[in-house]
Amino acid sequence: MLSGVIRPQRRVLEMNGNVLDIVGLKKYFELKKDRLFSKPKYVRAVDGVTFSVGEREVFGLVGETGCGKTTIGRLVVRLERPTEGSIFFQGTDIAGLAGGELKKFRRKMQMIFQDPYASLNPRMTVSQWVVEPLRNYQMGTPEEMADRTLKALEDAGLRPVEEYLERFPHELSGGERQRVSIARALVVDPAFIVADEPVSMLDVSIRAGVMQLLLGLREKYGMAFILITHDISVARYMSDRMAVMYLGKIVEMADTEGVIKEPLHPYTRALIKAVPVADPTRERTPLPLTGEMPSALERPSGCVFRTRCVYATDICAEREPSLVEVKDGHMCACHLVERGEI
Ligand code: SF4
Repeated sequence: MLSGVIRPQRRVLEMNGNVLDIVGLKKYFELKKDRLFSKPKYVRAVDGVTFSVGEREVFGLVGETGCGKTTIGRLVVRLERPTEGSIFFQGTDIAGLAGGELKKFRRKMQMIFQDPYASLNPRMTVSQWVVEPLRNYQMGTPEEMADRTLKALEDAGLRPVEEYLERFPHELSGGERQRVSIARALVVDPAFIVADEPVSMLDVSIRAGVMQLLLGLREKYGMAFILITHDISVARYMSDRMAVMYLGKIVEMADTEGVIKEPLHPYTRALIKAVPVADPTRERTPLPLTGEMPSALERPSGCVFRTRCVYATDICAEREPSLVEVKDGHMCACHLVERGEI
């Protein structure tokens, strides 16, 4: 189904302890036609992705810019409508919901954006910005809203909270702005948060504090996270499990230490090798990777990674590898890994 979108329908999955079950999720963006009768072209931003997120779990989505990880985040919180597939949130498929049906679920799913400078309204004070979602969802009396706002700001580490209430975004540092965004997400008591590159625009000195804050909130609020990052060391620090993405597909997925200590897919091996190590004595070896990521419009046949893979053989151009379990819970999409040849 390329041109259509999913019709509203209520589909229910048996409760399995997961907050989210994403099944066969696709998002194709249609490009503007340059001629009246030319065939439409699609960018396959997300192309058949399946994964689950358990309660209180931090699930990392890792990959280069353009791999589709941010689009997945936007689909999951339904800022975008999927082309195909299911998004089971606590057992109910929200992929095709709209209007009032969707609004019932929206409060439970929040997103923190990458850019703390662009994500706040410059004309609203901190307190106005954080209380706004409570007003939108009509959550409690004015006194209750005020209490919730103070608590969310305190939990986000903005203390003494009274000093921040009347400040505007331009009066805050980058780290403080990101904490205000976190407070706005927390204030409605969500079941999960999608954190899209939450520390990538912050100074290195304040990154660790924000990462620790998010992990502490997972414990305190009992919620799950999808962590979107291009930085595999951030994913290692924060996530319990992770999926590595390339050109709209998951190429490897396992518990985080399994991926870091025993990467299977050639792309994951290259990503891990590319992480800088502060050891001038360590010998530099070339990355097992060639060229640049191709355009999502000109996808290679067979394995999407084959144009950059140093191990590619004929079968890689002929047949697309499936994401299969190679060892206990460790999934990989590579013909040669599946056959035990690399
Ligand atoms: Fe490389 Fe082939 Fe494996 Fe793709 S399937 S990652 S091209 S070896």
